[in-house]
Amino acid sequence: MQAINESLTAQADAPAAVAKSQEKITYENNKLHKRLCRQVGQAIGDFNMIEDGDKVMVCLSGGKDSYALLDILMTLRERAPIHFDIVAVNLDQKQPNFPADVLPAYLEKIGIPYHIENQDTYSIVKRLIPEGKTTCSLCSRLRRGILYRVADELGANKIALGHHRDDILETFFLNMFFGGKIKGMPAKLQSDDGKHIVIRPMAYVKEADTERYAQVKNFPIIPCDLCGSQENLQRKQIKNLMREWDKKYPGRVENIFSSLSTVVPSHLMDKNLFNFTDLQISGEANPDGDIAFDEEPCATPASGVIQLHLDQDD
Ligand code: SF4
Repeated sequence: MQAINESLTAQADAPAAVAKSQEKITYENNKLHKRLCRQVGQAIGDFNMIEDGDKVMVCLSGGKDSYALLDILMTLRERAPIHFDIVAVNLDQKQPNFPADVLPAYLEKIGIPYHIENQDTYSIVKRLIPEGKTTCSLCSRLRRGILYRVADELGANKIALGHHRDDILETFFLNMFFGGKIKGMPAKLQSDDGKHIVIRPMAYVKEADTERYAQVKNFPIIPCDLCGSQENLQRKQIKNLMREWDKKYPGRVENIFSSLSTVVPSHLMDKNLFNFTDLQISGEANPDGDIAFDEEPCATPASGVIQLHLDQDD
């Protein structure tokens, strides 16, 4: 009898438990949306990415990151004290099985002006690059040139790309490990043709957040391996390394990212960034000088700090 009662009570509680868990999911999703808006707004502000009267061309590949970028920029535009226009652009590179109707249908649904540029760069790349060699470098060069031209034709002065924090860090490590350079991926730069400003408003956003946001919003993702290009193994290695750090040493990846905006040229070795040649004695002590990473003196429970006795033998 008691078992039957317990079972009836559990059944009565089930809808309440479902409602509670649904509430929690909605709360977490709202938090994620707020975080993305805050981080994108922060990056836009920090780098003065978008100004009054701008026309921003958002490059949409069909991947999670560019969908998230467009979505968040549309939200921020509604709240912004300035006026700017957005136009979404997709370059259909004529890769086999590219579902050409997916993006237009999505863009119609959300009511944003858009342009689909049809250019068969796939055939060009296949013709020029021998089988088995990596095609990405020529492919992206061609794509870049086309997108700059399209931006001109659409009257867009800003070109927004969906790269996020993890892309920036991966590029930074790739350049350091394999290129011998301290160089990341800029949040804002002038385009090669000198006619546009390229911006990366997702610069502060974690990839894991764009992944989750894409699920929450149910974006119609187009797979990114249609061209048949092999995955860049070096990038994959770095990605795995960062994932492992994130798991084993929470906060490390965040610290590395924040170090990109806290560079001390006098403590590196680039003679173009700091004039070591003409460095002279100034005669003035700098209390905040070169002590940041000195060992901390040992603390004692009573007095706080043990004095160093330089005359002791040990
Ligand atoms: S993965 Fe394919 S589409 Fe993307 S840049 Fe490389 S070759 Fe081009």
